[in-house]
Amino acid sequence: MNIFGSGVFQGMMVTLKNFLTSYFRKPDEGGIFTVQYPEEREKAIENFRNFPFLVYDGSPEQIRCVACGICERECPPKCIHIEMALDVVGKPARKPTVFDIDYGLCMNCGICEEVCPFDSIFMDHAFEVTAPERQISLVRPKKALLKSNEYFQKIRPTLAAVIDQKRKTAEEKKKAAIQPPATSESK
Ligand code: SF4
Ligand code: SF4
Repeated sequence: MNIFGSGVFQGMMVTLKNFLTSYFRKPDEGGIFTVQYPEEREKAIENFRNFPFLVYDGSPEQIRCVACGICERECPPKCIHIEMALDVVGKPARKPTVFDIDYGLCMNCGICEEVCPFDSIFMDHAFEVTAPERQISLVRPKKALLKSNEYFQKIRPTLAAVIDQKRKTAEEKKKAAIQPPATSESK
């Protein structure tokens, strides 16, 4: 049976503990704290999401996006605009010539990341995005959205490792499928 007032006492002890540990423990050790931003910064948790970026492998020309338009269709506020690049004979080149995202409209939902079948678009940790006005300056073109797979591996290592493994397996399967069957002479 609880003694009258013991709950209040327990609560006060929690407050006292948090007050004292705030002086001795760092944020990632469970201390209660105030971050002296911008001089100090809290370490972002891996699945923190802000605005989307486009991933490339190796160099920016090796953009993963094939301009399928799924993210553009599924984006709730319709802030993605994509135009397919054409090859020399005018056929779709399976990569975007235009890929803009209006950060002023983006609501950070992450749906573009969820629906992309080509592991091309992911949510970034960068949040310090400012502009003198919102109509034009916050529209991010493809060039500004491109970031390397190494960057993705750095900010979201768990997901990036899963995606890398998935892509590696798919690549190996593809190579195996196009290899000619072994002949009796080659055995
Ligand atoms: S995070 Fe949401 S709102 Fe922003 S571009 Fe992706 S789908 Fe659109
Ligand atoms: S980012 Fe993904 S879903 Fe969007 S157009 Fe490119 S490949 Fe398609």
